[in-house]
Amino acid sequence: FIEMKQIEKSFEGLPVLKNVSLSMAKGEVVAIIGPSGSGKSTFLRCLGQLEMIDRGTIVVDGTPLVQTTGEGPAVYSDKKTQQQLLLQMGMVFQQFNLFPHMTVWDNILIAPQMVKGMKSSEIAPVAEQLLKKVGLWEKRDVYPAKLSGGQKQRVAIARALAMNPSIMLFDEPTSALDPELTGEVLRTIQQLAEEHMTMIIVTHEMAFARQVADRIIFMADGIIQEEGEPEAIFANPKSPRTKAFLDSML
Ligand code: ATP
Ligand code: MG
Repeated sequence: FIEMKQIEKSFEGLPVLKNVSLSMAKGEVVAIIGPSGSGKSTFLRCLGQLEMIDRGTIVVDGTPLVQTTGEGPAVYSDKKTQQQLLLQMGMVFQQFNLFPHMTVWDNILIAPQMVKGMKSSEIAPVAEQLLKKVGLWEKRDVYPAKLSGGQKQRVAIARALAMNPSIMLFDEPTSALDPELTGEVLRTIQQLAEEHMTMIIVTHEMAFARQVADRIIFMADGIIQEEGEPEAIFANPKSPRTKAFLDSML
């Protein structure tokens, strides 16, 4: 469903992603773990078109976003294709980025209305269902400032889902939260996994990664050092790098 091949990305001549490849089946949940600065966010941002790659290939659901042939640089597909693929990505970051001057309800409705031209009568039933799913239906008329961090993040998840994405990208969705609020956000993501949403989750929550992911990717120095099923990675890491990282996270 997602093919990312030999992705290379440098910032100011400094390689951050060095030949990183990932292919994912529909419904698969991949967790990316690894030390700070290893390129996890950059990798996710390349898929979400927030960064452009230097070399490599990205194909989503059979549609190429960017391709590289021979020794040349990466060549992106036309704007329309880029936009169409962007619409398939739901992204949730550490910071919630809700619109502060809009209620929870309007935060959910705005993107489908503006981007997809949907009528509020079309999107309202979906928004209601999503707010109930994340447990915030009773907060629909509240402004973000009145919500806890965990509630804000659940609104951000509902807002991303309202665009009906075929994949969800999470970049440390609980890192900005007080520890007692991480559970409610992780449970929401867990629920999406049970519904077979295709997801890539960058996280420092090792127990969560182990529980939710079908596959764990350990990234360090811009390279996938090791990948495999959670039990294999956590119980029996092959690479000394992985082992040292996991020990440091305990
Ligand atoms: P963390 O766990 O701290 O979030 P990460 O694995 O997500 O780390 P990235 O954010 O992908 O790491 O950063 C990888 C490297 O690329 C870092 O050295 C970072 O300083 C650098 N980098 C990231 N974005 C930019 C940018 N826009 N311009 C220059 N350098 C950047
Ligand atoms: Mg990061």
